[in-house]
Amino acid sequence: MAEMNYGVDYSDIREQVARLCSHFPGEYWQNLDEKAEYPHEFVNQLTESGYLAALIPEIYGGAGLPIRAASVILETIHSHGCSAAASHAQMYTMGTVLRHGSDEQKQRYLPAIASGELRLQAFGVTEPTTGSDTTQLKTRAEKKGDQYIVNGQKIWTSRAHQSDLMLLLARTTPIDQVAKRTQGLSTFLVDLRDVRGNGCEIRSIPTMINHNTTEVFFEDMAIPASSLVGVEGEGFKNILSGMNAERILIASEALGDGRYFIDKGVAYANEREVFGRPIGQNQGIAFPLAQAYAQLEAAEMMIRKAAALYDAGQDCGEAANIAKYLASEAAWKAADETFQTFGGFAFAKEYQIERKWREVRLWRTAPISNNMVLNFLCQNVLGLPRSY
Ligand SMILES: Cc1cc2nc3c(=O)[nH]c(=O)nc-3n(C[C@H](O)[C@H](O)[C@H](O)COP(=O)(O)OP(=O)(O)OC[C@H]3O[C@@H](n4cnc5c(N)ncnc54)[C@H](O)[C@@H]3O)c2cc1C
Repeated sequence: MAEMNYGVDYSDIREQVARLCSHFPGEYWQNLDEKAEYPHEFVNQLTESGYLAALIPEIYGGAGLPIRAASVILETIHSHGCSAAASHAQMYTMGTVLRHGSDEQKQRYLPAIASGELRLQAFGVTEPTTGSDTTQLKTRAEKKGDQYIVNGQKIWTSRAHQSDLMLLLARTTPIDQVAKRTQGLSTFLVDLRDVRGNGCEIRSIPTMINHNTTEVFFEDMAIPASSLVGVEGEGFKNILSGMNAERILIASEALGDGRYFIDKGVAYANEREVFGRPIGQNQGIAFPLAQAYAQLEAAEMMIRKAAALYDAGQDCGEAANIAKYLASEAAWKAADETFQTFGGFAFAKEYQIERKWREVRLWRTAPISNNMVLNFLCQNVLGLPRSY
C-alpha cells in the first residue's frame, strides 16, 4: 500500500497512537457500526494510555499537553481508520470546567475524568426547535433554594447513555429580561447517574453513522446549585471559549479521515487493473485524488496555525473556523473521490469505504454547519452585514 509521508511533529505520539490503533482494525468498527454499539474497548485503551486526558493539567492527573498534541492524537487515530468521535468531546468539554469551574469542581471531577473513573462525554447544547440559533434555546433552569429545576429538551446529545457527566447549556434568565440574547444562559455539570429516570429521560436516535447520539428530555429535573459552572448568566461565554478548541480538534479528525482516504484511494488506484493498466494511470482517477491531497495539505496548515495561536493564548477564532471549514470539505472530497476510485467495491462493507464515507460527511454539519462558519467569516472577519 502507498504510504504518504505526513506530519513530522510529535512523532513519538504518532507512533504510539498508531500502535494502539493497530489493535482495532476495520472489522472492529464495522461490527460496532452494524450493532450501533459504543467502542468501549477502544475508549478504555485511549483512557488508560492517557491520550484522552492530554489536555488536563498534570496537577489534576492529566498530561498537560498543548492543543497541538491533542490535534496530532486525533488526526493519527482517524488516519489509521479508527474513530475518536465516540470520546473526543471529553477533550474540549473539560476545558469549560478547567477555565470556569470552581476549585472544588476541578478537584472533584478532573482527576476522576483523567483516570477514566468518570466520563464527561455528553455536551447538551442543540435543541430541536432552535438548532444553530443557540441563544434562542428553550431549556430553562430555575433556581429554587439550593437546587436548579430544569425543564426542556436537547437533541443530538451524543453519548448521553455512555457518559457519567453532561455539560448542559440552559437559560437561567428569560430572554426578554436580558439586554443581549447571549446573556442569561448558564452552564451546568450534570451528574447523569443521579438524574437518569429521575427527571431526565434519554432516548437513542437511530442515525446513518454509529455516533451513539440521543435526545434528552428534562422534566422538573432537580440538580444541586453546585452544578453551576462559572457565573450564572455567563454560560454562553463559557461555551464559546471551548468552541475554538473544538473546531481545531474536529478539523484534526477530519484531516485524519482525509489522509485515510488518500492512502486507500492511491493504493487501490495503483493495484486495480482494468483495460490492461492500473486505473490510477487515468487522469480522471488520479487528478481528483491529487486535488483532494492538495486541499488536505492546505487544511493542515490552517490547523497548525490555529493550534499555534491557541497555544500562544492568542485569538484563534478566525483560524479555527477556517481550519474546520477547509478540513471538513477536503476530507469529504478525499472520501468521495476515493469512493469513486473504488468503483462498485466501494459499496461492499468489507472494504470499509462506505462506512468511513458516511462518517466523514458529519464534519460538514457538526459541531457547526459550514454555512455558519461562513457566516462567522462574513460578519466577523470580512465586515459584511449580518445576514440573519
Ligand atoms: C451525529 C450528530 C451528533 C451531534 N452531536 C451533538 C452533541 O453532542 N451536542 C450538541 O449540542 N449538538 C450535537 N449535534 C448537533 C449539531 O451541532 C447540529 O446538527 C448543527 O449545529 C446544525 O444544527 P441543526 O441540525 O439544528 O440545523 P439548523 O440550524 O436547522 O440548520 C439547517 C441548515 O440550514 C442552514 N442554516 C440555518 N441558518 C442559516 C443561516 N442564517 N445562514 C445560512 N445557513 C443557515 C444550516 O447551515 C444547515 O445547513 C450533533 C449533530 C449530529 C448530526
